[in-house]
Amino acid sequence: MDNVLEIKQLTKTFGEQLVLDDVSLSLKKGMIYGLLGANGAGKTTIIKAIFDLVKPNSGEIYLFNEKMPQAVDQFKKLGSIIETPVFYENMTVEENLLLHCDYMGEQFKVNVDKVLQDVGLSEAKGKMIDQLSLGMKQRLGLGRALLNEPQLLILDEPINGLDPEGIIDFRNLILRINQTYGTTVLISSHILIEVFKIADTIGIVAKGKLIKEVGKKELEEMDMDIEEYYLSLV
Ligand code: ATP
Repeated sequence: MDNVLEIKQLTKTFGEQLVLDDVSLSLKKGMIYGLLGANGAGKTTIIKAIFDLVKPNSGEIYLFNEKMPQAVDQFKKLGSIIETPVFYENMTVEENLLLHCDYMGEQFKVNVDKVLQDVGLSEAKGKMIDQLSLGMKQRLGLGRALLNEPQLLILDEPINGLDPEGIIDFRNLILRINQTYGTTVLISSHILIEVFKIADTIGIVAKGKLIKEVGKKELEEMDMDIEEYYLSLV
């Protein structure tokens, strides 16, 4: 009942290259799952497969217990940042969100103010995009992903280019969204500190394989430097 996302034995090749090798993982309602792995490990391919942007060779994906790709209707319960968010530069922050609702559904326009508040951009709503810092743009990207009040937020490397302070701010923001609305989160990263501390479970991906899943408690109790631990696995 509480299954939000289930991936079963996903395999994908691009030409001769085995990019995903028998990947299985599952997200229960309300959890934050961190997908951690080096560049090229296969994280984006997993995420693209969820959105049916990549066709797996084999395996199954279930969204809210419905099998993909038949379950495309479930996409309306998702919010995502898949690539660096792009905005209309000659519009304000607020206009960008309103425009997004034009395409996604007029009914979401009532959420614009709440979303701006949630991501800490209320005071910047009249600013043009080129007046925003990178951190603000990333938060606006998150705000846009939240407009439809998603039950599952899928974030692929959402903080690329942020400095350590920006990473911590963004991480805390995700945690707050998760705690306030119970939103389930799948976040991918190649940066350990991006997911460590907020993820309930971290799935470590290396060369297309999910080599280890480790729970928050296990991580906290670990008598080993977390970076050393990670490096010992990959
Ligand atoms: P990154 O953080 O660099 O995006 P990643 O873990 O998300 O890393 P993927 O983007 O999933 O990795 O890529 C996994 C592998 O699949 C890489 O070797 C990549 O070059 C390859 N790959 C991805 N998409 C394609 C494609 N459309 N055609 C061929 N190879 C691809």
